Amino acid sequence: MKAGTTRTPAAALPPDAARFLIPGDRLHAHMQHVAQHHAAGPRSYAVLAVSLACASTPRLDYRPETDAFLVRYTLQLLRRVLRENDRVAVIGPDELIVVLADLPSPEHAELCAARLLAAFEEPLRIGAMYDHARATVGIANGTPGLRRPGDLIRQARTAGHQALTASRNYEVYPPGDDSSGRESLEPALRTAVAANEFHLVFQPQVDLATGVPVATEVLARWERDDGARVGPNVFIPLIERCGLMPRFTGWVLNNALRSHRRFVEAGLQVSMAINVSAVDLHERDFCELVEQALQTWSVPPADVTLEITETAPMHEPREVVPLLERLKDIGVGLSIDDFGTGYSSLSLLRQLPVDEIKIDQQFVNGLLESKQSLDIVRTTLALAGNFGLRTVAEGIEDQATLVALRDMGCEFGQGFGIARPADLETVVRWMQKHGSQPPATQPACR
Ligand code: C2E
Ligand code: MG
Ligand code: MG
Repeated sequence: MKAGTTRTPAAALPPDAARFLIPGDRLHAHMQHVAQHHAAGPRSYAVLAVSLACASTPRLDYRPETDAFLVRYTLQLLRRVLRENDRVAVIGPDELIVVLADLPSPEHAELCAARLLAAFEEPLRIGAMYDHARATVGIANGTPGLRRPGDLIRQARTAGHQALTASRNYEVYPPGDDSSGRESLEPALRTAVAANEFHLVFQPQVDLATGVPVATEVLARWERDDGARVGPNVFIPLIERCGLMPRFTGWVLNNALRSHRRFVEAGLQVSMAINVSAVDLHERDFCELVEQALQTWSVPPADVTLEITETAPMHEPREVVPLLERLKDIGVGLSIDDFGTGYSSLSLLRQLPVDEIKIDQQFVNGLLESKQSLDIVRTTLALAGNFGLRTVAEGIEDQATLVALRDMGCEFGQGFGIARPADLETVVRWMQKHGSQPPATQPACR
């Protein structure tokens, strides 16, 4: 395909997405520059060939502009995944080339692809309709003495085609070669789970009216033995893909509940919010896992809330709703995380035996600037009120947003403007310090 023939939709993009774009006809020159830049240093670079498709449903009335829409949508997703020196070129109506620079290791190209693919799990909104976009990614890792940039692009596209034929969502070039790095992450993840390379951090949730801490969200961190830190947005999708989620969730549950005693000893009355993956909700013995962990660490079920993402029950409600009911019978609380990013129908929401809605941080963050975010938050709060659900806002970064949420009737909040995630002892101390102070006198904690 001749690069540079498709009009780049930069004008329609938010600036933070547009800044990654380079014109298709500058792609080769850019890659040459990147290859030279990486010739001596320890860091690596890679090319991702991303091809896009829409999983069409009869609800969606396709028009030619759908492809352009898909590309724009993907560019918006990519801005969550890309780093400072990465660049994207649109080379076809449904094809993008991503050049990743300054990678700590070739595996990081795969991590980036996994993150992008995870972002595609969210439904795509076109006008008033919803559909699912699908991406396939081919990955080619750069070599220091790259002579012809076109070769690397071809390799990435070959890997992408291979992925399509093998019904995989990504593939590393050369396809099927285990030395390529494709398989290398799975053993690393298995070792990480077995050798406890993960650790937990805790982020307080407070009552917005009083400032009193009421709960703590448990968040996993992975620090690899080479010292590299990999964030959960990257490793959680990979753990899911490698089939390691049941074991990982078992580890998180047990370690989180083991920490519960420390809060009790410190005289703190807090419940623990633990994230579970959509994959967990399809595990036959998930309820037993939860019950066992509660018993092992003598934690009252009422002190635990399991956070499930909004889209998790939407795919298989017939399977998931009974499981959620069993969890309710055990006595744990249930929260819908990242609310507003999925496409819950009201009737399904009504059926879910949940106690709480957690408003996604993208709406909370934009609350004071965007009328759309404000409307979504207002509507969510009204909806929660009608359904008798507790409301938590996540991603509160400043006092003005906190006050606005409180005035709108949101009950609980969490965010960097209140307290950043921290290790157990730091959070225990923070909670002891803030346990009885009203919000007006409570400084933002960092
Ligand atoms: P989440 O459950 O929605 O967690 C909230 C995320 O927002 C956390 O990111 C947290 O550090 C971040 N955050 C909190 N306050 C603010 C703020 O004011 N501003 C901004 N910009 N961010 C804020 P983190 O720890 O990177 O986790 C990302 C996601 O990974 C989590 O989103 C959750 O879905 C998943 N995750 C984390 N730990 C686990 C786990 O143990 N199991 C599972 N299944 N998923 C996990
Ligand atoms: Mg959460
Ligand atoms: Mg969330």
